[in-house]
Amino acid sequence: MKRNPKAEMRARAEAQRLLAQTHALGLLLKASVVRRRFRCGKPNCRCAHGNPHQDMIVCRKVRGKNQTIRVRTGREQEALLWQKNWRRFKRIVEKLTDEEIRILSMPKDATRRKQR
Ligand SMILES: [Zn+2]
Repeated sequence: MKRNPKAEMRARAEAQRLLAQTHALGLLLKASVVRRRFRCGKPNCRCAHGNPHQDMIVCRKVRGKNQTIRVRTGREQEALLWQKNWRRFKRIVEKLTDEEIRILSMPKDATRRKQR
């Protein structure tokens, strides 16, 4: 590949733009978020008559072990948003890596070396 300063500048500008996008995302949750419906087991409860309880759990692997927590009532939307942000983050980092690979494949300072 011939050295092309403009192509490198474009790639670096795109990389900076992507990096700025990651900063704008907000909090990131690298975990599974699952809504559950369940019956509590009390015979007279509404859930025994076709109206199940609902909750949300968050699972992740920590040093090979599964960690599972129940999301507190009212925090469900936060959990979903943070998980969505994590997915966006991964997509952005993928594109960022594309640009970095592009830059790393470009010759460095070929013209300057010739001038010396
Ligand atoms: Zn119940």
